Amino acid sequence: MRDNKISSHKTAVMTIDAPQVAVHKPARSLPGIHVLAKPMGPICDIKCDYCFYLEKRALFDSDERYRMPDEVLARYIDGYVAAQPTPVVEFVWHGGEPTLIGLDFFRKVIESQRPHRGRKQIRNSLQTNGMRLDDEWCAFLKENGFLVGISLDGPQEIHDAYRKDRHGRGTFERVMAGVRLLQKHGVDFNVLACVARQTAQRPLEVYRFFRAAGIKYIQFTPIVERQPDPSTQKIGLWLAKPASLTTPEPNTTVTPWTVEPEAYGDFLVAILEEWVRKDVGDIFVMNFEWALNAWIGNGSPVCIFSRQCGRAVALEHNGDVYACDHYVYPEYALGNVLKDDLGQMVQRSVDSGFGPHKETTLPRYCRECEVLEACWGGCPKHRFATAPTGEPGLHYLCPGYKKFFRHIRKYLRAMTTLLENGLPVSYVMQAIDAPLVISRGKAGGSSAAAK
Ligand code: SF4
Ligand code: SF4
Repeated sequence: MRDNKISSHKTAVMTIDAPQVAVHKPARSLPGIHVLAKPMGPICDIKCDYCFYLEKRALFDSDERYRMPDEVLARYIDGYVAAQPTPVVEFVWHGGEPTLIGLDFFRKVIESQRPHRGRKQIRNSLQTNGMRLDDEWCAFLKENGFLVGISLDGPQEIHDAYRKDRHGRGTFERVMAGVRLLQKHGVDFNVLACVARQTAQRPLEVYRFFRAAGIKYIQFTPIVERQPDPSTQKIGLWLAKPASLTTPEPNTTVTPWTVEPEAYGDFLVAILEEWVRKDVGDIFVMNFEWALNAWIGNGSPVCIFSRQCGRAVALEHNGDVYACDHYVYPEYALGNVLKDDLGQMVQRSVDSGFGPHKETTLPRYCRECEVLEACWGGCPKHRFATAPTGEPGLHYLCPGYKKFFRHIRKYLRAMTTLLENGLPVSYVMQAIDAPLVISRGKAGGSSAAAK
């Protein structure tokens, strides 16, 4: 049955343009504090080509255990509930690969949260590669109402091109086994699909695969990664630093798997054209929902397309807190939950200007952009391109963002009108009967447009 709405509860804790940040970067535009916790730090059991978490081991001692101790867990849960001013407290378990810590850890999580239930509504979400899920895991996730994010890039050939295990073998079969188990147990889950350079050339293959697999909630995340900076080399790992928050930087080189800007826009547009004809109200593509939210004046529920950021912090396994999961670098450290108050740490982050910088450092090119209200210049981490005006500090994906936001606008206007009149947004499908016009983007990706 089709929903009479475009948005759903699955957008509650959506995310950003990071490789494995699935559905649950805690950055929606609600007041309060949002924490993304990594119980195993950056440790993962697979080795995706584009994972930026693996490099984060450079931040820790070489004999680090990478396992959240009970004391940190207890202080975090109590401190987070106490510091959260909203009635809902959303616990987001992320990685690396959080299931590596074992199910008993999550049983402890539920037990530690129990005394707070009643006073607060407690929710949990888990981002995973899905490879360790079994019946026991899935029964637990279902029983405790976890919302699960699965990292799956599309059909086997596309997924296995980048998502390999430590022996270089593809992980598709094992991830799909996890998906099928989640479906069998009726666990709520979303798919996070990374869009790398080659993936961007095959939008409809990716989308139709998800539809055929019965996947209803999908989020596309573009892969953007600068070449590592050799000056930060430490224990054999290089840190690919984010763009400076305050000082715009010139263009830089990106990794070979980084998606090309216009091709990313073409990718989203091609899927949009299919979705808007066949699947509105049945399949939820979060990227489209965020845009609708922005166009109807609610603001984007994700930080990257919000006006400002700054209240969504990252918690490492050892209790260290950083201003954002995209800025886990020493200069953005805020303290440690074992000795600092979480609310005060977040306030320090805001007072430092971390959030407002997203808006105040926008180049004039963005300020005058026709889709500014939907884009807000994207995440500052990836503002390392130069605008056509010659200004530095433009988001690397700008041409793709602009193409997509311009294209989706006409459909969103129609959907907004339907919503305002109390009609199902799925009616928009009946209004589209024009033939498709296919054009080729600069990067070779196809784009489709209704006449
Ligand atoms: S820097 Fe801001 S926009 Fe980027 S991921 Fe962090 S909170 Fe989101
Ligand atoms: S589309 Fe480009 S110019 Fe417009 S706000 Fe986004 S990044 Fe800036």
